[in-house]
Amino acid sequence: MFYDMPLFRPPAEGYNIILQATLGCSYNKCSFCSMYKTKKFQVRDLNVLKEEISFLSIQYPQGNRVFLADGDALALETSYLLEILKILKEAFPKLQRVSSYGSPLNFQKKSLEDLKILKENGLSLIYYGIESGNDKILKKTTKGIDKKSIIESIQKANQSKIKISATVILGLGGKKYWKEHIDETADLINQFHVNYLSTLQLGLEEKEKENFYKKFGEEFLWQDDEGMLKEQIRFIEKLNPPKNIIFRSNHASNALPLAGNIPKDREKLLNQLNQVFTGKREIVDKRLRGF
Ligand code: SF4
Repeated sequence: MFYDMPLFRPPAEGYNIILQATLGCSYNKCSFCSMYKTKKFQVRDLNVLKEEISFLSIQYPQGNRVFLADGDALALETSYLLEILKILKEAFPKLQRVSSYGSPLNFQKKSLEDLKILKENGLSLIYYGIESGNDKILKKTTKGIDKKSIIESIQKANQSKIKISATVILGLGGKKYWKEHIDETADLINQFHVNYLSTLQLGLEEKEKENFYKKFGEEFLWQDDEGMLKEQIRFIEKLNPPKNIIFRSNHASNALPLAGNIPKDREKLLNQLNQVFTGKREIVDKRLRGF
């Protein structure tokens, strides 16, 4: 079995079964994202998926977690996704979790009833790029959604009991908008429940920079590592979620990997960050990082 490359998956899915239910991203216009620029969005044929699932179930009969790639398998019609979930359930008797990437745009097209049915049939976790809670930054990075639609979509996920693993991009507002970026993103996250939250640092491929700067519409002043860490500190200080969040900054882009629960481990995480400024802790060498 061959995958259509490039293939991306969240770090937490590294050891799980991956099935490419779709190719590319149905939106594919965020100016900071080059993941699927070489692909045209496609829904993969159900008969082909059946064959691949059968192959995977022979290779991994004990498989209990499946990630549906590529960029937003939640864009699939609910009935199509239900078919895939049904086939997976039959093929993997020990199946406990099916997950995929999903955007606010995908959620807008799903009713609460759709989400509840998907949850009942095994779709239990969506990886969701919040990126920023600031409307100006969302617009300047052509994310295609606003703060209000993020709130509505995650509240809908909460009601359906589908878990959310959210990401936020440090540095996305540059030096000029960093405070608004962090304050409004923390404020946004304090309004609903995300089960997992991770931060990554903005990085752009050389060939994407021109488009990003053009869309940004004014000079973009990059945050350096010190600025990124200050954003992280302010973000953790301002998070006051309604329920416990499992927090990670384990993406390869981060200057300082962090792991803990918020609010319980807030002080521990802040201490680790502050230790960088007092010389007691080292950041990751830039050559070992990636976006
Ligand atoms: S929705 Fe996600 S995968 Fe698609 S372009 Fe935006 S960041 Fe990239």
